[in-house]
Amino acid sequence: MRLYKCQVCNYVHDEEAPEKCPKCGAPREKFNDLSEEQITLVERSVYSNSLHMELYTLLQQMSEIADAGIEDDLDPGCVAIFKKTEIFSELMKRMIQAELEIHMKKGKWGKG
Ligand SMILES: [Zn+2]
Repeated sequence: MRLYKCQVCNYVHDEEAPEKCPKCGAPREKFNDLSEEQITLVERSVYSNSLHMELYTLLQQMSEIADAGIEDDLDPGCVAIFKKTEIFSELMKRMIQAELEIHMKKGKWGKG
């Protein structure tokens, strides 16, 4: 497995560097051949990154359900649960964002 990264926009391509970057249109010369170590980082993190994104989507749905529950305002017990759910899902979403930012900075990102 070889990976090529566009130095202009960070798009990652496999097999062979493309004639032109599909994302930004940069020519082939702008693609760097990633090292074995860089490829290992990208490949090892694909599954974990997809789990983070899946979880993020569910947390987003939780947040929307909680908002609907708060607005429905049936009784204080319900609203308390929905407000805690809202706080929890926002907290977890921010943690996931922070973790994925670390992954990107460490090169644990690039294809899925
Ligand atoms: Zn590009």
